[in-house]
Amino acid sequence: MTRTRAISAASQQRLAETHRLLIDGEWVESSDPEHRDIFDPSAGEVITTCWQATEDDADLAVKAARRSFEEGPWRQMTPAARARVLWRLADLIEEHAADLGELEALDTGKSQQNITNDEVPFAAECFRYFAGWCTKIEGTTKQISSAGDARFHVYTLREPVGVAALIVPWNGPLVQASWKLAPALAAGCSVVLKPSELTPLTTNLLGELASEAGIPEGVVNIVHGDGAVVGQALAAHPDVDKVAFTGSTAVGKRIVEAAKGNLKKVSMELGGKSPVIIFDDADLQQAIPGAAAAIFANAGQVCVAGSRLYVQQPIYQEVIQGIVDIAKRTRLGSGRDPKVEMGPLISAEHLERVHGRVEEAKADGANVLVGGKPLTKRPGYLFQPTVIDQVNHSMAIMQEEIFGPVLATTSFYDDAQAIRLGNETRYGLTASIWTRDLSRAHKMAADIQAGLVWVNCHGIPDMALPCGGVKQSGWGRENGEEALLQFTETKSVAVKL
Ligand code: NAD
Repeated sequence: MTRTRAISAASQQRLAETHRLLIDGEWVESSDPEHRDIFDPSAGEVITTCWQATEDDADLAVKAARRSFEEGPWRQMTPAARARVLWRLADLIEEHAADLGELEALDTGKSQQNITNDEVPFAAECFRYFAGWCTKIEGTTKQISSAGDARFHVYTLREPVGVAALIVPWNGPLVQASWKLAPALAAGCSVVLKPSELTPLTTNLLGELASEAGIPEGVVNIVHGDGAVVGQALAAHPDVDKVAFTGSTAVGKRIVEAAKGNLKKVSMELGGKSPVIIFDDADLQQAIPGAAAAIFANAGQVCVAGSRLYVQQPIYQEVIQGIVDIAKRTRLGSGRDPKVEMGPLISAEHLERVHGRVEEAKADGANVLVGGKPLTKRPGYLFQPTVIDQVNHSMAIMQEEIFGPVLATTSFYDDAQAIRLGNETRYGLTASIWTRDLSRAHKMAADIQAGLVWVNCHGIPDMALPCGGVKQSGWGRENGEEALLQFTETKSVAVKL
């Protein structure tokens, strides 16, 4: 029996409206009369509709951002005043935690409890963290030698990069938008934010809260719509100075292509196929549930999901059996049912894609130990938590990002083999190492090719912890000072005295 919560009056009112675009401080309809249906993936039902921006709308949004940037009400505000506005926005996000949690759960199928209690406070924390940076964006003074005896005063300035397009995916719409919006605003940029066409709901509420917090009109613009139309238009736009993108590696490559016209700056958080490596000296009480959570959290729709599991030979059977047991007892259903542990995949197409990958692995000779099928007993796009072994390392199931609750496993003998297998991929986003041996942990962390390595844990984010990928998992980092600097340019000034 499901115990899905009733939808609040406030959310019902929002769902009854067609979601608009935010351009130059106004909530507007698109120039395209067609709306897009927005689905609740837990029920497979349409819950609301959204206007879809055209290239012309994207252009209007960029013009509004450019005007606000050039006129400067935001970038010329004192750093302390800018910080206070961002802090106010964080407070407003927390005040609206229940609304944001409910809308995000309806839109994504994720656990409403987790969103309200963890993701919303994390989004608020993101604005507080970058509010703190506003007053610490600094240049340096330089001593130069090339001018002989002439005296110079030489210094650098850190300036906002300009108009930034922020393009985000559907797997964590509020947090992903916050991770880009907060550093961009802290740096003094004006932005056009494009959420995924599948999940527009919390982005609009975030836009309303940004206005309420005091961010001037035209500084934050929001356009909804198809990535290949609106996202592409922003990435190619000659008046956009920077694109900050989170999404798939395939689309990341398209953005690089589109961005070359005006050589805009590009930062990218892309796909991953993160290895979880468990040694025979690990604390299995932690490693087994840790490895299961690494792949089954948010039904595997997490960029840092631990989708490749390597277990040292002597403990292979014990670890795999432990994860299979967890998979068997995981309760599937709507993220709005408090008892549910794993929600749906985002769409019917994605469900089909994930299922197809598992069928392909079976055809390649891999063995499905548990799961492997869509759950047809109830509505929504539910896919069983799945563990696959007898996997050859060159198989697609071991090499391609599935973005579903599908774990590919194999064993290894020693440290050298673990590193070789862990690095045998085109991705390099994250990794986790499970061992009680401190030297081994540090050596593995140094040798593994990843932007972020966890030891005896997996998937712990923090605003102070830079997160991003090497190899084909991206360019640049989110969070920490590095995220802020990506929205700035250095200007050098040499004054002959
Ligand atoms: P996606 O690449 O299909 O889409 C991401 C965003 O890009 C969406 O807003 C989409 O509309 C837009 N887009 C699509 N085509 C575009 C184009 N040609 N030009 C410009 N924009 C375009 O990804 P998704 O399916 O929404 O999300 C899943 C992917 O995101 C996975 O590969 C996952 O690993 C990745 N992801 C990475 C991170 C990270 O931090 N590394 C975090 C979350 C998700």
